[in-house]
Amino acid sequence: MRLILLGPPGAGKGTQAEKIVSGFGIPQLSTGDMLREAVKLRTKTGLHAREIMERGDLVPDELVVAVVADRLDQPDAANGFVLDGFPRTLAQAVALDKELYQRNLRLDAVLELKVDESILVDRVKTRAEQMAKRGETVRSDDTPKVCERRLDIYRAQTVPVIEHYRSQGLLTSIDGLQPIEAVTEDLAAAIAAVPVNAIRRQK
Ligand code: AMP
Repeated sequence: MRLILLGPPGAGKGTQAEKIVSGFGIPQLSTGDMLREAVKLRTKTGLHAREIMERGDLVPDELVVAVVADRLDQPDAANGFVLDGFPRTLAQAVALDKELYQRNLRLDAVLELKVDESILVDRVKTRAEQMAKRGETVRSDDTPKVCERRLDIYRAQTVPVIEHYRSQGLLTSIDGLQPIEAVTEDLAAAIAAVPVNAIRRQK
C-alpha cells in the first residue's frame, strides 16, 4: 500500500498515520518528524530548516524532496508507506510523481482529512497544553500565532495538491471532525476500497 495522508495542521494526521502503521504494517514517512530529527542532529538539512520551521514556513521543495527520495529507498519502505505531511506544494507532488515513476511505483490512494478551520488553532493549543502536562517537549511551532501561519500556507500551497490528486482519481476525503475511532474506520474503508488490480500491478 502506498498512501498519502493530507490535511491541515491539527487535523489528526499523525494520530491516524500511526493507526495505519499498526493496521497495515507499513512505515509512516513524516517529513515533519524527519526534519525535526535533522534539526536535533544538527545536520546540514537541519541547520537550514530550523528557523524556517520555527516560523511555520515551508522548507524549500528541493530539500524536502531529497529527504523523501532517500527515505523511499530504505528497505522498510519497499512494500509500502504512508506519507504524512508530504507533499505540501504542487511542485512537491509533481516531484513525487517523478520519483515514484523512476522506481516503477504508483500510489494507491490519497486520503484527505477534512476539518473545519475554526477549530484547528484550538486543537493545536490543546495539543501543546497536553504535551506540557505530560512533561514532553512542546513543539516550538505549536503556538496559536505560528499555527495561523501554517494554516495560511496550507490554504495557499497545499490545497492545490488536493486538486492534483483529485484529477488523478486517487483522492478520498474523510470527515476529520468525527471521533478518532470513526475517522480510523473511514480511513480503513477507503483503503479497503482501493482497486485490487491497482495493487497487483505494482507488485
Ligand atoms: P509537520 O510536523 O508535518 O506539521 O511539519 C512541521 C514543519 O516542518 C512544517 O511547518 C514545515 O516547516 C516543515 N515541513 C514538514 N513537511 C514539509 C514539507 N513537505 N514541505 C516543506 N516543509 C515541511
